[in-house]
Amino acid sequence: MAVRFRMTEIRRLYPLLKGLDLTWKETGEGLPEGGKTETISLLEANLVGRLPCANPECSKGGFELTDALKGPLDAQAEEVQFSVACPGYLGHVRSEEAQRRCGNRVDATAGFLWGEPRKG
Ligand SMILES: [Zn+2]
Repeated sequence: MAVRFRMTEIRRLYPLLKGLDLTWKETGEGLPEGGKTETISLLEANLVGRLPCANPECSKGGFELTDALKGPLDAQAEEVQFSVACPGYLGHVRSEEAQRRCGNRVDATAGFLWGEPRKG
C-alpha cells in the first residue's frame, strides 16, 4: 500500500521541488461532452490530496493524487502521466444503489520542476 501524504506537506517533504503543474482531463457525469481539462499548480493549490469529482451524484469520491505522484517525486522525475478512477459511489450508502460506482475518471500529466541541491 502506497504511503499517502497531504498535498499541503509537499513543500516540506520535497524541498527541492520548485514547481508542480498538473493538467488533468476529467470525463464522466457532470462534465461537458468530451470532458473538461484544467491545469493547476499543486504547490499553490491548497489541496489535501484529492481532486474533487465533478459528478453531482457522487458520494465519497475524488481523485487521489499522492499514490501516482509519490514514486515520481521520490525519483525526481520531470514528468509523469497517470489515470485515476473515482472510487466514489452513487446513491445512498444503505441502499442497493450504493453498489453503483461513480464512473468518472481523470487522465493527468504532472510536470515537475526541480531546483539544485544547496551546496555546503
Ligand atoms: Zn465520483
